Amino acid sequence: MALLHNLGFPRIGAKRELKFALESFWQGRTSADDLIAVGETLRSKHWQLQKKLDWSPVGEFSFYDQVLDMSFTLGNLPERFQGFDGSDLDNYFRVARGRSAEQAEEQACCAGVAAGEMTKWFDTNYHYIVPEFSAQSQFELDASRLLAQLAEAQAQGVNAKPVLIGPVTYLWLGKAKDDSNKLDLLDQLLPLYQQLLEKLADQGAEWVQIDEPVLVTDLSEEWLAALEKSYAVLGEGKAKLLLATYFGCLQDNLDTFSQLNVQGLHLDAINAQHEVSKVLAALGSDKVLSLGVVNGRNIWKTNLVEALQWLEPVAGQLGDRLWLAPSCSLLHVPVDLEQEERLDKEVRNWLAFAVQKLDELYVLKTALNKGRAAVYHELEENQQALISRRQSSRVSHPEVREKVSKITTQYGQRNKPYAERAQLQREKLKLPDYPTTTIGSFPQTQDIRATRLKFKRGEISTEDYQSLMRAEIEHCVREQETLGLDVLVHGEAERNDMVEYFGEQLEGYVFSQFGWVQSYGSRCVKPPILFGDISRPQAMTVEWTKYAQSLTDKPMKGMLTGPVTILNWSFVRDDQPRSATCFQLALAIRDEVLDLEQAGVSVIQIDEAALREGLPLRQSQWHAYLSWAVEAFRITANGVKDDTQIHTHMCYSEFNDIIEAIAEMDADVITIETSRSDMELLDAFDRFNYPNEIGPGVYDIHSPNTPTQEHVVKLMQLAAQRVPAQRLWVNPDCGLKTRRWEEVLPALKNMIAAAGVLRAQA
Ligand code: GLN
Ligand code: ZN
Repeated sequence: MALLHNLGFPRIGAKRELKFALESFWQGRTSADDLIAVGETLRSKHWQLQKKLDWSPVGEFSFYDQVLDMSFTLGNLPERFQGFDGSDLDNYFRVARGRSAEQAEEQACCAGVAAGEMTKWFDTNYHYIVPEFSAQSQFELDASRLLAQLAEAQAQGVNAKPVLIGPVTYLWLGKAKDDSNKLDLLDQLLPLYQQLLEKLADQGAEWVQIDEPVLVTDLSEEWLAALEKSYAVLGEGKAKLLLATYFGCLQDNLDTFSQLNVQGLHLDAINAQHEVSKVLAALGSDKVLSLGVVNGRNIWKTNLVEALQWLEPVAGQLGDRLWLAPSCSLLHVPVDLEQEERLDKEVRNWLAFAVQKLDELYVLKTALNKGRAAVYHELEENQQALISRRQSSRVSHPEVREKVSKITTQYGQRNKPYAERAQLQREKLKLPDYPTTTIGSFPQTQDIRATRLKFKRGEISTEDYQSLMRAEIEHCVREQETLGLDVLVHGEAERNDMVEYFGEQLEGYVFSQFGWVQSYGSRCVKPPILFGDISRPQAMTVEWTKYAQSLTDKPMKGMLTGPVTILNWSFVRDDQPRSATCFQLALAIRDEVLDLEQAGVSVIQIDEAALREGLPLRQSQWHAYLSWAVEAFRITANGVKDDTQIHTHMCYSEFNDIIEAIAEMDADVITIETSRSDMELLDAFDRFNYPNEIGPGVYDIHSPNTPTQEHVVKLMQLAAQRVPAQRLWVNPDCGLKTRRWEEVLPALKNMIAAAGVLRAQA
């Protein structure tokens, strides 16, 4: 009999209860006890929702981050956080949020950097707190959190399976601050893990899930040996270990994985379906194999019949050694589709959120154990939904497909090379040296948000909305003129979010009401759902930009989000390759670019904030990704005349390993985030002899501090040591929407004065 389990449940709550409880606690409006009580309620609710499972995950609930929890369990806190006498919870949040408590509320794009020690969890949009190591690191076990949650689950009759991050993955995720070899710490960690596992077993845990997703990345011999060594020890304890991998294939690590000294293995059978038979062949005769057969990373229904087709023989072979699960923790999907009352009925019927994904697993389990007839009705319904999706005229638009099929290499090419274009653009735009600009958004005031909300709720008319927004644009333009910026922007007052704004106007998207997914801490994102072929019924930004241009003689920069970023920040369809979806988006945004140009806009910025985020886990796949991603950008950008200036913006700062691709994008100007790195990040551009113009950010928009004129001058001088001054722009790191006008005005004033100094020096 196949068994059912789950690797992790979203903890934020169907209505984001945890988010609100956290924020109210941080603001001092509620007590620690209130927050703890919300945690208990959520855990209990979530176990209730998982009651059909044979094993429910326990201990993966976190008030902030599961990696940080593991750091506390192992007593691995950086020195600067030690020696405070606050409560445990205070200490926990001190590490989680550091000095920059406020900043943690900032825009998602820049989250990773704002908190300083956060980075992406594998290839997801979840961010974890990076463990810090040094040759001196000392660990000390604190099993209290896990034991308490285990006891709590047991008291509620839950068949509890504690979840831990394995020692090798834990080390891999962290950073050695002194460049020592992290793996040297393994010998210290293993006894702690042994004790922890023993305590869990003593308290009645039969199975413990130990996550080693590091196995789906490129691993050296040293790391593989560390895995073997770890489980040679840990697998001998009282608790049975289910070792879980997810997010990809095992490839060269498959043999090591199959032979690890553990009692069970979990494989992501969505991303690594082709490896199931190999793992089966190598599986020890007493080992459990857990197969992740429902996708934990997207929101689509599973094809249950197709899954049964290949699972039935496996079930026949393994009997009760077969477990079924989602491919990974359900942390990465929204909680419950039931709440989505306003979602388009047709599309809703194609979707499954966390709760529905567990239902699907239950159907699969029943079919395997009792025969398909036992769930005839459920399977039938599932097939009907899939057929309806496949055949829907809203999914497939022949015109869109035809347009994509007609893309030629011409689409991605400007007429003239950069050097000649630059000349034409100089003549047309007449910009000074060290031209100044901003990245697009200006402060999103309470008024602006309130106006947008009222319009969305139908409380004000379209005319009123437009005139209020025009007033905001006018204010923004006047301020920029007074400041003396060279290339202006309209300020993005009308945009709630840089992806949603476009998604809402494109054909092929729907929006959930509660489809929130945790990004980090209390921060959630609600990715729009891209379900069908993408088209652009009408221009999306032209009217606003034209209006803004009409207010000034200075060049007005049109502002768009690029196709790769729209793709990477949406839930996208699984019925065609990501690249195909991206090319459809590229054509839609390209039309917008051309319409802007037609309307007289001579500078157009196409933001690709999330291009880097989409990099696959395996280096071997980078090339393929980058080549279609860059091509999609080029298709979007390069239909313009040579004297139209294309800008792009990227929020992050690591360019070393992708500089070639960045150069291939061939944007006339790229603005990046550099203010906190003393311009060292420009070394990559320098080494590569990056040929086009660069605006290295000189104003850290994550900080409320005002950069001084001297500081900006100094940063730009450092920049000029790496990039010829004629190709430098002066601008902030990113958009200003999270800042207040009182902060922005003096900062920009200093920035512009600095440009004046630099020009005088030239
Ligand atoms: N144009 C956007 C803004 O200024 C860019 C934001 C981003 O790249 N994350 O807000
Ligand atoms: Zn940015």
